[in-house]
Amino acid sequence: MPVLITVLILVSAGTVAAEAVPVLEEPNEGGNVPILIYHHVSNSVNSIYNVPPAVFYNQLRQFFDAGFVLISLSDYFEDDFGIPEGRKPLIITFDDGYENNFRLLEDGSSDPVCAVGIIEGFAEEHPDFGRTAVFFVNAGSRAVPFGDEATAPAKLRWLVENGYEIGNHTADHVNLKSCDPYQVRRQIGLCQAALYELCPELLGHVRFFAYPYGQTPTDPESFKALETGEFDGVSYRMDLCLKAWEYPAPSPADPAFHRQRFAIPRIEMHVCEGGNGHAPRWVIAQPNLYVSDGDVGSLWE
Ligand SMILES: [Zn+2]
Repeated sequence: MPVLITVLILVSAGTVAAEAVPVLEEPNEGGNVPILIYHHVSNSVNSIYNVPPAVFYNQLRQFFDAGFVLISLSDYFEDDFGIPEGRKPLIITFDDGYENNFRLLEDGSSDPVCAVGIIEGFAEEHPDFGRTAVFFVNAGSRAVPFGDEATAPAKLRWLVENGYEIGNHTADHVNLKSCDPYQVRRQIGLCQAALYELCPELLGHVRFFAYPYGQTPTDPESFKALETGEFDGVSYRMDLCLKAWEYPAPSPADPAFHRQRFAIPRIEMHVCEGGNGHAPRWVIAQPNLYVSDGDVGSLWE
C-alpha cells in the first residue's frame, strides 16, 4: 500500500489559499508510462478528435494534481528522466500537425489558445509540471506542418529551441498496413526530407514515428524498412514507433522494452470517455503506473 503524503504549496506570495498538489507514492520504476495522443485543440473543430482549449487546460490540471510530470519522448526512450520521487512521468503527443496545435504571435511568443500556448501557460503557473510535447507531423509536397508554409520553418525552430520534439507521421498520412518496403521508405523519407528542408536544426533529430491510423505494416520486410532506410538520398533511423488507441506504454526499464519499441502503445484523449477515447480519470486510475524513485535511470541500473 503506497504511503500517501499530501504536499501543500502556496500558490503565490501573499495568497492566503494553498493548493493541494501531488500525492506522492512509493517508487515503481517497472510500471507503465502513459503516452497521450491529442489531435485538434480548438473551439471550432467539430470532431471527436477535438479537445477544446479550456478542456485541454483542465486535463493538464487533472494530471498535475494526480502527481504527473511531463517528460520528453527522448528521455523516455533513453530512460533518462530525473523527476522527483513519487511523481509519475507523462508524455503528450499530437498527431497530424494541425494549425490549432501551434500558432506564433507577431512578438514571437506562442498563441495562448493553441495547444503549445496552453502547455506554456500551464507551466508558467505550475513550473513543476514541465513543458514539452511531441508533434507527429505530415510533411511533403501535399502537407505542411501546422497548416501554413510561410510560418512552418519558424514554428519548427521555435519548438526545437524550446524543448519540444518533432516526429515523422509519413508524407501523406498513409496507412502502412498494406505498404511494401519501397512505399514505407518513400513515405518516411519524403517526410524526413521535407522536415529537414523546413528546419535544418532537425537534421538527425527526427527519430520517432507514429503510425497513421495506428496501423503497423503487415509485411515483415516493410516493418524492417521502418527502423532504418534511405529514400532519395535522405537516410533515417527510427528509435521508437508509436501506435494508437491503446493503454499505458511499458517502462523503459522493462527488460522487454527494446523488443517492443516498434509498437509502443498510446492513449487517445477525448472530451468524454467512450469508444477509443479516454479522459484523464481513466489514465490516472490505471494500475501499475511508473512512479519515480527520484534518481535518473531505472531501478536495475
Ligand atoms: Zn494521423
